[in-house]
Amino acid sequence: MTSLMRPQDLIEKKRDRREHTRDEIAFLIRGYTRDEIPDYQMAAWLMAACLNGMSETETQALVEEMLHSGVVLTHDHIVEPKVDKHSTGGVGDKTSLVIAPAAAACGVVVPMISGRALAHTGGTLDKLEAIPGFRTDLSLDEFRHVLKRCGLALIGQTREIAPADRKLYALRDLTATVPFRPLMCASIMSKKLAEGIDGLVLDVKTGNGAFMREFEDSRKLAEMMASVGRAMGKRVVGLITDMNQPLGRWVGNAVETMEAIECLRGDLNGDFAELCLELAAQMLIVGEVENDPVLARAKVREAITSGAALERFRAVIEAQGGDPRVADDPQLLPQAGKQRTITSDRAGFVAGIETGEIGRIVMDWGGGRRRLEDKIDYGVGLRIRAKLGDRVNIGDPLVAAFYNDESKIEEMDARLRAAYRIEDAPPPPDPLIKAVI
Ligand code: URA
Repeated sequence: MTSLMRPQDLIEKKRDRREHTRDEIAFLIRGYTRDEIPDYQMAAWLMAACLNGMSETETQALVEEMLHSGVVLTHDHIVEPKVDKHSTGGVGDKTSLVIAPAAAACGVVVPMISGRALAHTGGTLDKLEAIPGFRTDLSLDEFRHVLKRCGLALIGQTREIAPADRKLYALRDLTATVPFRPLMCASIMSKKLAEGIDGLVLDVKTGNGAFMREFEDSRKLAEMMASVGRAMGKRVVGLITDMNQPLGRWVGNAVETMEAIECLRGDLNGDFAELCLELAAQMLIVGEVENDPVLARAKVREAITSGAALERFRAVIEAQGGDPRVADDPQLLPQAGKQRTITSDRAGFVAGIETGEIGRIVMDWGGGRRRLEDKIDYGVGLRIRAKLGDRVNIGDPLVAAFYNDESKIEEMDARLRAAYRIEDAPPPPDPLIKAVI
């Protein structure tokens, strides 16, 4: 790599829609990670890239540079297939809490590195941290130890894992450069490939609660991530799944953990459980412990109904310092002190739900963060009483809000009401799983 490169020349190159060489991508990522390139130059390059695009070769180079900016884990002491799942972010999406223990109970090992709530979307780490004592900040040695002992471990991105992404992500968040496919692909895949996995299941959300609202954009993102992963020798399956309404019946942190526990305790009704069964089955297929999708689903179902998955969840909670009694008594999770039910003021069918707004309401009421240092109110949550297509009469419940901050109740009541669209006819049915890549 030539030391005569200058960031401004690379910004100019992207500004003028020219393609970078691998060395140039390496120069940018290494320089930025080592604090040799300042935020303002990287921000300018990010925006130029967003506006003018990146080729497949540039994207592959970006993923590899970001991946090798930190430690890439290996698990030579574990013979079982190592598989993870990644979701691009949604509202009410707590699938990780179910599928990691369920897949582990079926014989794959799940080294899961997850994120926090981001914009209007919830984060697995925050849901786990709603469990009293649960630590997501394990060292890599502790992570390996829990993985060996429980068959799964659930942590946040450590300092050592893809540090380039840590820095870049914070900058993207502040410069409106998050929803750009090559950057999302590099951000997600660099972290996932650093986990030392053999296979990956991608849950790419699409709809009004997803970062990618349009199906075509989600499909392209899934294809890009799958092809990057496969080029690096991993088995990858991508599902495009619906995010035009919250997944399941609850949105928040402790309430979603509670819903995940109910599912692990055998409640397999509804869209949330359906997606859990499908994603976990795909993990078994990608991990090559099963190759028939019907048998894979049956195996996951059996892991849940037999209690084996719940047992894994209990074990990982204990191994990561949390109170394992929540697996048997979710009432031990933090709870909000106040409650209000928002009812429909007209009769008809639920024809639309502003899913992103539902996520923002939870965030603005304390269930998410506006800044990284904000403290989360784990008890805040919404119970989704009416889902798309449900028939409602005047006075029927749409949402039950659980909250602590009374000062916002009237604003939130109005926002929740406005987030629901009731019409005379039901909306056309929309499949939960829209495509498999
Ligand atoms: N999640 C990530 O980890 N990175 C992105 O860029 C978007 C979602």
